[in-house]
Amino acid sequence: VASVNALGHRATIDFMGESARNFATVDAACKEFLRLVPLVARASNSNSISLDLSHIGSVLDPELGSKNARRIASVAHAHGIELILSMEGPDRVDQILEDHRRLSAEFDNVGVTIQARMYRTRDDIPALLERDGRIRLVKGAYDTASSLAAEPESSETAGLFDEFARTLLLSGHRCSIATHDEARIDAALATVAEGAVAKDSYYVEHLSGLADLQLLRLQSAGVPTQEYIVYGEESWLYVCNRLAEDPWRAIVALGDAARAALNA
Ligand SMILES: Cc1cc2nc3c(=O)[nH]c(=O)nc-3n(C[C@H](O)[C@H](O)[C@H](O)COP(=O)(O)OP(=O)(O)OC[C@H]3O[C@@H](n4cnc5c(N)ncnc54)[C@H](O)[C@@H]3O)c2cc1C
Repeated sequence: VASVNALGHRATIDFMGESARNFATVDAACKEFLRLVPLVARASNSNSISLDLSHIGSVLDPELGSKNARRIASVAHAHGIELILSMEGPDRVDQILEDHRRLSAEFDNVGVTIQARMYRTRDDIPALLERDGRIRLVKGAYDTASSLAAEPESSETAGLFDEFARTLLLSGHRCSIATHDEARIDAALATVAEGAVAKDSYYVEHLSGLADLQLLRLQSAGVPTQEYIVYGEESWLYVCNRLAEDPWRAIVALGDAARAALNA
């Protein structure tokens, strides 16, 4: 976190895990998030915590997930930092949005992630704009039926992302444009360049280790930036999932590493 902050980015950190199916894992995850909050806040109060509700109990018992999220949100609030809920598979969206509704009625520091690919997102946005809490826009990573979502790498997904990014930016609501896709970032920044978007209302967010040079370029050009750091025993599984989704990423990563080494 400190090294990400030293580069001029905000940082958000996630003790990686999802779909925890036993109480010991849930308990350990909650303890870890509660331990993290003061550490992250001490580095900078523009940093945040990100988590999956299913890592802190929502799969075992939705009320347990809500109770644990409330504890973490309350400690994050006391330390003046944000907590951003990740968005999970299509069968979990209702519950995550409901948890966000309850948390954001009580705390102003709880954000939520929305998936541009999901057709329901257009209808979810108006209610979210009425609530407190940053809205993080991503394309959407989960396998989803074609009746519910656009294809992952389609022009339809790109169009939806651009449309929702524009809506969020012009609303003045706190938001995160979370993508590595240069064309999507350019479209969002074109909206910013129109002059009606407050600089402190948004940032462009990348996953740590993906397109670092692009994020640095944006930061040098004065764009607010954030990097999403993951760690923990499940982070290797997370890397493997990303590679399984698109094996070409292994080559892109090697290319990035070679470029970074040449630039160092
Ligand atoms: C901060 C953050 C939080 C997220 N949280 C969630 C969540 O809660 N729920 C969820 O479903 N999904 C989440 N995601 C994942 C997201 O849904 C996408 O699956 C993921 O971001 C890939 O989509 P993309 O928008 O980056 O575009 P892609 O279409 O995957 O990539 C865009 C372009 O960028 C290029 N590119 C990718 N990586 C690099 C690189 N290293 N160097 C150069 N070019 C590169 C690709 O080749 C492609 O041309 C999150 C993503 C981010 C960034």
